[in-house]
Amino acid sequence: MTETLRHFIGGEFTGSAREFGKYSPVTGEPVCQVYEAGESEVDDAVTAARAALRGPWGRTSELERAGMLRRIAEEIERRFEDLVAAEVADTGKPVAQARTLDVPRGAANFRAFADIVSAAPAELFRTATPGGGRALNYAVRKPVGVVAVIVPWNLPFLLLTWKVAPALACGDVVVVKPSEETPSSAALLAEIMAAAGLPPGVFNLVHGFGPDSAGEYLVRHPGVDAITFTGESATGRTIGRAAADGVKAVSFELGGKNAAIVFAEADLGAAVAGTVRSSFSNGGQVCLCTERVYVQRPVFEEFTERLATRAGELAFGWPAQPGLTTMPLISRAHRDKVLGYYRLARDEGAAVHTGGDCPVFGDARDGGAYVQPTVLTGLTEHSRTNREEIFGPVCHVAPFDDEDEAYALANDSQYGLAAAVWTRDVGTAHRAGAALDVGLVWVNTWFLRDLRSPFGGMKSSGIGREGGTYSLHFYSETTNVCVDLG
Ligand code: NDP
Repeated sequence: MTETLRHFIGGEFTGSAREFGKYSPVTGEPVCQVYEAGESEVDDAVTAARAALRGPWGRTSELERAGMLRRIAEEIERRFEDLVAAEVADTGKPVAQARTLDVPRGAANFRAFADIVSAAPAELFRTATPGGGRALNYAVRKPVGVVAVIVPWNLPFLLLTWKVAPALACGDVVVVKPSEETPSSAALLAEIMAAAGLPPGVFNLVHGFGPDSAGEYLVRHPGVDAITFTGESATGRTIGRAAADGVKAVSFELGGKNAAIVFAEADLGAAVAGTVRSSFSNGGQVCLCTERVYVQRPVFEEFTERLATRAGELAFGWPAQPGLTTMPLISRAHRDKVLGYYRLARDEGAAVHTGGDCPVFGDARDGGAYVQPTVLTGLTEHSRTNREEIFGPVCHVAPFDDEDEAYALANDSQYGLAAAVWTRDVGTAHRAGAALDVGLVWVNTWFLRDLRSPFGGMKSSGIGREGGTYSLHFYSETTNVCVDLG
């Protein structure tokens, strides 16, 4: 057991009256103890942030801040192995994944927003005045202020840095509340900020829970100007109500029930391999994961059989084992929720092609939170299994006949985050991009991201876009200055 993880407020690591335990998804054994912030710690963090905003940080230039972001990226790389260990201990994900995705993306987020803010264009408009002269309009970009950053447990370091980097690039100050399931990499990020020389109070961290705890206190705090939140749609609705009371800006990246569409003329091997990735990566615990697969009827049976075979072959293991392809869910509570959906699917009439239960190891992993990757068919579009986000390694496969039907099926959801389309036809690829009511369409790939491109969802999947200059719009305010040139 390590020391109790502390809050980071005004440049100091501090404790609080209450603590909670974090348990391993791999074995159920304790990982660490964490201090739980109450209202007074949240208030201290917001006060420290506001003080930092009034200090020299609030007057830094874009290029100065870009330099700071690059130093933070270097510190992330210096603490690379610590971050990998923290991320693996909290989530049970394969070490290889933390090394190749989660931690490198953290550094990449800071470098990307250093570049984006350095190159951000300024707007300038010349206007005619009533007296026949000219006036000049230009917009001054300013920090939005104190930003509450609330993030989930599935890709903790990747998603946290995805929000902190643009906020700092814009000159904001942040109060971060990670999920109680994944406090460790956020605690290391606080150390990294201090080592990089970020002024005290610019980055603050409070640990705790959501409702009636640190998360709720933070979003209700009158000193918070904007809220950037990634998590469930239901939580987004609750936070949205709190934000409305305080007239705070919100950016919401919420849940998904994402579709994949496989056309008969697609490269079937690539579509099967891609769907294995999109449905089962990170234990299916990515907002972008595919839970509904629509396959054109001539290849429906072959695709389903090949997908189920590949899913059944996914190896479980210990996180440090090489070649691992799946991982536990985040907690026993989440495992019970996913197993509840496996039972519900059977009750709703699903055929289970592979999985549908927990693996049995005969060792300490039986105390963990593993479930089998699961492939289902035979459900109606109106079944709860097909409509609700499960957030586990499971997908339902259904046939379609023509292109319009595929888009109608994919769009028939309260969510609108992402879709993957598998086709060799360039016309189909472009039509899919236009027809699908989602924020992201991948064609013949999945999860490929350019950090300059917009990211976010439609319908219940979110409000707003982040990424590239879209992030700059959210994390800054503009003042238009109009000068009569005479
Ligand atoms: P939750 O919505 O349960 O929690 C997200 C964060 O919000 C946690 O830090 C949580 O704290 C906090 N929180 C919960 N309730 C409140 C509240 N009332 N006020 C303030 N904060 C609160 O999501 P999960 O952690 O379960 O993450 C999974 C969800 O995230 C899935 O729905 C997934 O689709 C979505 N997601 C969306 C992404 C996107 O980009 N669209 C990306 C990744 C995930 P605590 O956990 O400590 O209670």
